[in-house]
Amino acid sequence: MSTIAGGCRCGAVRYTLALDALPTTYACHCLDCQTWTGSAFSQQTFLPEDSLAVTGPVSVYELTTPSGRVSRQRVCGICHTRIFNTNSARPGVVVVRAGTLDRSDHLEVVAHIWVKRKQPWLDLPRDVPAWPEGAPVEQLSQALARGRTDA
Ligand SMILES: [Zn+2]
Ligand SMILES: [Zn+2]
Repeated sequence: MSTIAGGCRCGAVRYTLALDALPTTYACHCLDCQTWTGSAFSQQTFLPEDSLAVTGPVSVYELTTPSGRVSRQRVCGICHTRIFNTNSARPGVVVVRAGTLDRSDHLEVVAHIWVKRKQPWLDLPRDVPAWPEGAPVEQLSQALARGRTDA
């Protein structure tokens, strides 16, 4: 098993994923993700919490959404790179910012959500599942799993 690893911009926080291969990822084009990343979209993946092992100074930013869910964002305590989060709606699951993986240049995006907010210059491939707003978690998980088998 090759080591799947990543970390923050300054290198103080490092992590490994107990996976056989790079995870499949999805892109979220919502306004919050655009603001938070300072970019066109966020690229992330869902994983079981116990597959992630982190070292280094992690800070927590906790946020309660209008629906009452608590999102706990983990960032590097030094350079503030956002690395992963958990959500009270999905116990045992971590959402990892896929762009923090060392081999982010090998990642595939197998689903797009909130595409009604996507930047206009970005043309999405027609054969990749997309939702105008958020996708139901089961459907998104299925798309991520399907991407994995086809790869
Ligand atoms: Zn850092
Ligand atoms: Zn988003």
